[in-house]
Amino acid sequence: MKATPPESPHDVIAAARAWAEEWLEEGVERFERATEPPRAPAAPRTLSGEAPSAAPAPAPSHQSSLLEPPPAIPAGASLEDVREALGECTRCGLHERRTQIVFGDGNPDADLLFVGEGPGEQEDLRGIPFVGRAGELLTQMIEKGLGIPRASVYICNIVKCRPPQNRTPLPDEVHTCQPFLDAQIAAVRPKVIVALGKPATSLLLGREVPITRVRGQWQSYRDIPLMPTYHPAFILRQYTPQNRRLVWEDLKAARERAEESGAVFDDAS
Ligand code: SF4
Repeated sequence: MKATPPESPHDVIAAARAWAEEWLEEGVERFERATEPPRAPAAPRTLSGEAPSAAPAPAPSHQSSLLEPPPAIPAGASLEDVREALGECTRCGLHERRTQIVFGDGNPDADLLFVGEGPGEQEDLRGIPFVGRAGELLTQMIEKGLGIPRASVYICNIVKCRPPQNRTPLPDEVHTCQPFLDAQIAAVRPKVIVALGKPATSLLLGREVPITRVRGQWQSYRDIPLMPTYHPAFILRQYTPQNRRLVWEDLKAARERAEESGAVFDDAS
């Protein structure tokens, strides 16, 4: 159905507000100013005025993933093996401004594994995922909400180096780092994965998903049950009872599903 265009300034403002709220819900934190790629020189024309059919393809704008081939991480690799394969990685542009790689934190045999988006400032400084404000909230949700010690779960991100100004990682960065995330999950072999926010959920499902629509609904990553929920940073921005209740329900469902599969959790108290 074709949308009816707004008719008054009030309509325009209301529509803009609705879009902004939707973007916020999707986890969009900022917009990058689009930088125009350098224009390719005009293709030579034939005498008839048509472009030749075999025009060269434009070069990709970001070739960092070509700097180093993806690692061959053998099946059955442990977390230590994966960390060793990662090394002092420079496979994508995020290495340039990082303080250190933020690999992962927690129990290498965890039944519950959380995947976020990328390290923030505190994480970059300390080398541990989810230790800033959003991390404190996640820790509270795990320890006070679920009653599980944080050390008994495993926490990692889709990229291991901090994106500048905490921007959303670019597709090239995400896909360059993805083999390490896949290998981490394979090494931990959790009973349940909790994907925090849209980027992590979309990457693990292999398709773009609106987090508002998929959160709370069971998905699957390589036959492991996956529960998408809001990122704690989003909850901090939209600290409403409803959002907190929704995340609480998602985490409770994740714990119950893991327990149904035989997980036994320590008590956080
Ligand atoms: Fe390497 Fe991942 Fe860091 Fe990029 S984000 S440099 S792929 S560890």
